Amino acid sequence: MGIQINGKGLLIVLSGPSGAGKGTVCSALRQQAPELVYSVSATTRPPREGEVEGISYFFKTRKEFRRMIDQGELLEWARYVDNYYGTPRRFVEERLNEGKDVLLEIEVQGAKQVKECFPEAVFIFLLPPSMDELHARIKGRGTESEQVMTDRMQAAREELNQIHSYDYVVVNDEVARACHHIRSILVAEHHRRDRIFKEQPDWLEGI
Ligand code: 5GP
Repeated sequence: MGIQINGKGLLIVLSGPSGAGKGTVCSALRQQAPELVYSVSATTRPPREGEVEGISYFFKTRKEFRRMIDQGELLEWARYVDNYYGTPRRFVEERLNEGKDVLLEIEVQGAKQVKECFPEAVFIFLLPPSMDELHARIKGRGTESEQVMTDRMQAAREELNQIHSYDYVVVNDEVARACHHIRSILVAEHHRRDRIFKEQPDWLEGI
């Protein structure tokens, strides 16, 4: 009898303060790990330049977002700096059932909700190389007003306080290295004994 060790798809949650470089790391991962499925979130935030509907986000009005919440269409959702963000449930559940690994790039309040309904998910926190660098990256983005940048810096501090709820920490000092570390975590997680065999496997009997 063959021994199979590739079980169900993993749900991976990647969080980290604004400015840690989650977006850049996710874009690099999309190139390097096409087998990973990326969940596209719904948001009430207006699109930034270059963002594409259905690829960057599903851009919604507050009314549409409220309807999604009321109909139970979101796996998790949160308010972040004056806008709402949420993960469409059906897409994620269908891909996991197909055995695919699904990555959610979400903030900490949403991650907490995911932990309640998917305790077996893998929680990874991405850190910038330093707080100075974080500050420079938030300021340097330049796509938002002074007030939004101040709010994002405050949100970043609050997010950093939640780091203890995560399983892994990756420092984004270099994008390629951060991607490599994330992929290594996923390989290790796929090989966890408790994901492969919950109990003593049948084929061990009679040996
Ligand atoms: P941004 O406006 O910079 O694209 O995203 C702001 C924050 O919202 C980031 O921390 C991002 O990870 C988070 N975010 C994006 N999509 C979701 C989502 O579906 N749910 C939650 N809870 N956070 C999200």
